[in-house]
Amino acid sequence: MSGPATARAGALSPDYAEHPLLDVDGLSVGFVRDGAMGLAVSDVAFSISRGKTLCLVGESGSGKTVTALSLLRLLPSPPAYIPGGSVRFAGLELTSLPENELRKIRGNRAAFIFQDPMTSLNPVMRIGAQMTEGLRLHKGLSRSEADEAAVAMLARVGIADPAARVRDFPHQMSGGMRQRVMIGMALACNPDLIIADEPTTALDVTVQRQILRLMRQLLRDSGSALLLITHDLGVVGGIADDVAVMYAGGIVEQGPASEVLSRPLHPYTHGLLASRPAMAGRQKRLDAIPGAAPDLWSRPGGCPFHPRCARALPRCAGEQPPFFAAKERKSRCWLLEGQCFNPHPAPSAGRLRPDGWEPGGLPPP
Ligand code: SF4
Repeated sequence: MSGPATARAGALSPDYAEHPLLDVDGLSVGFVRDGAMGLAVSDVAFSISRGKTLCLVGESGSGKTVTALSLLRLLPSPPAYIPGGSVRFAGLELTSLPENELRKIRGNRAAFIFQDPMTSLNPVMRIGAQMTEGLRLHKGLSRSEADEAAVAMLARVGIADPAARVRDFPHQMSGGMRQRVMIGMALACNPDLIIADEPTTALDVTVQRQILRLMRQLLRDSGSALLLITHDLGVVGGIADDVAVMYAGGIVEQGPASEVLSRPLHPYTHGLLASRPAMAGRQKRLDAIPGAAPDLWSRPGGCPFHPRCARALPRCAGEQPPFFAAKERKSRCWLLEGQCFNPHPAPSAGRLRPDGWEPGGLPPP
């Protein structure tokens, strides 16, 4: 039988080499409350190739974590539903893949790293036993082979005296060490894709840098693709090839990281950059974006950013802008209309047009 939903998990489809490793198109995710569905994520589209890193950026409540969890169908259903869209991973359609097939992919070919290792590590199990579980399940290693691999992996993620530390319980390790363990566990089965949700947020700045450096190095060695979820644009510059900025459940700007960070097109991206301490230099006060992001039950009409946007036009409250695209960039803002950007046919209609854009982005506010 052919078709994505029936393909054998773990097998590469014939078109795998010619397509991005992960291709998300028109993905929507809703939650049901009192019989009504609110869309937490709406019409999201992005792709990641093998060996590349895409950062999904936005404030809390923007929908980035819901997007990430829904890729591997990690949200409980109900209350979460995927009313539309496609998630193709190595040629397999994950939205319709049977649960038993999806289980063979999770933790094996696609691994998740969470923000707080204490919520994903079992507090009453030794680190080594937790690390060997996945290796024995997915790779069929014997106990002694898996033990050896766990020690080697702890050494690879920079934990000193790994043969002794595999006998530790999680509470015997620092936050940074636990996050190293999580990275080691994620990489243990040589996944094609790693999804990391705010993996350094709970750590102090020095340890954050060490962990990011480690992830960069390990990704270079393994060739895995990374989807990194973060609210911190400071993290993006050091690691991302591409960035997608999310607001109110949708992507509002997308493109190569170097260009988005140096010439943001969307006022929301401008705001995120302006509120970064590193961007503020010696300024005493950071330019925080006024107001708060709307929750999924109270999203405004038109452009959802308009109540907070200092550059809003009269039409912004009533008309949702389409994507305007040029070369590898696209942004959803009326200010780009008539500026050498082409209206994108639909939020989820595929790749960007190769024509017509002159660098420069928006004039500063
Ligand atoms: Fe601001 Fe209007 Fe652009 Fe939305 S469409 S970001 S409100 S200028």
